[in-house]
Amino acid sequence: MNTSFDILPIEKWFEPFLEKPVIIAGPCSAESEAQVLSTAHEISKNKKVSIFRSGIWKPRTRPKSFEGVGEKGLAWLQKVKKETGLLTATEVATPKHIELCIKNEIDVLWIGARTCSNPFSVQELANAAEGADLAIFIKNPINPDLELWIGAIERFAAKGIKKIGAIHRGFFPFEKTPFRNIPKWEIFIELKRRFPNLPILNDPSHISGSKKYIKEISQKALDLAADGLMIETHFNPEQALSDKEQQIKPKELSDLLSKLTFRKSDIQSIDFTNQLEQFREQIDSIDLQMLELLSQRMKIVENIGKYKCENDVTILQLRRWEKIISSRMETGKNLGLSEEFILKLLQLVHKESIQKQVEIMKNDNFNKSKIKIY
Ligand code: PEP
Ligand code: MN
Repeated sequence: MNTSFDILPIEKWFEPFLEKPVIIAGPCSAESEAQVLSTAHEISKNKKVSIFRSGIWKPRTRPKSFEGVGEKGLAWLQKVKKETGLLTATEVATPKHIELCIKNEIDVLWIGARTCSNPFSVQELANAAEGADLAIFIKNPINPDLELWIGAIERFAAKGIKKIGAIHRGFFPFEKTPFRNIPKWEIFIELKRRFPNLPILNDPSHISGSKKYIKEISQKALDLAADGLMIETHFNPEQALSDKEQQIKPKELSDLLSKLTFRKSDIQSIDFTNQLEQFREQIDSIDLQMLELLSQRMKIVENIGKYKCENDVTILQLRRWEKIISSRMETGKNLGLSEEFILKLLQLVHKESIQKQVEIMKNDNFNKSKIKIY
């Protein structure tokens, strides 16, 4: 892997130089000129914010949702820049979007999570960006595939783009989590380790999916030396046409920024440079995911218990249990885990699963007499 491409430090992307951490704020979507301008004016009162974001073309999961105001919103962003002095940012998903942004002097572009997941689209965008003095952020792909994320960054770097950064916005969680997108901090840390000079911002809004975790996620990102934050801010979130649960008001943004601790990420800062801390963050994140998966597994075990109960079959199914042991041992061994450890772990999980099913059978008044454990 070539890690040697030229990356300009984020502070130097614009003149006057930006201050770190770089704060990007603005609504999920541009909805009307009045909404864009009043939100921008409110936000611009806080001097920590340097870039105003607003989606013009919106990738929506289901059709017939609000898909953005399109090209006319670019003129609103130009007004924001003229009236507030904030730099402007929007999402691009097609070469045409890039062309229009260049024409309308949008300062910063970003590639969304869905687009980043498709190398064909990313390549087309990188081709369209070639030769332009663009500043671009690549959001992580929907799935936790670090190589795919790096690949997208490389496609732009290969076209000579030097103002290039990444935005960590979390990953689609198959398992149930409190977050809209699971952060998987270990991926953020690994990207930082592989590309120490690459600016990486965090997007607590799309990780949280609701206002309530934004502070916690922002602080964690800052403690892990994120170079900045992108926070969805709307002058009237209740009325927002997209992502209304996660948007905060400009006043709440100011409160949040005043409460966050901005630590130094240089050599004196033990928070990030302490290797042990970095490893512990990775362990914490993995443990959380393990617990979530175990809880999900137990729920399935309960369903199986009910099903066995209804069909009057025994809890213990020896052939299945033997198959679990042999297949997991094989997989675990290939993953470098000891046989003894896998066996102990499986026995522990299996014991708990049996216990759960015993409870289910016990609680089933009709089947009380039918419990058979061999
Ligand atoms: C957005 O920033 O509004 C957006 C659509 O983000 P993502 O690509 O992270 O879902
Ligand atoms: Mn959004």
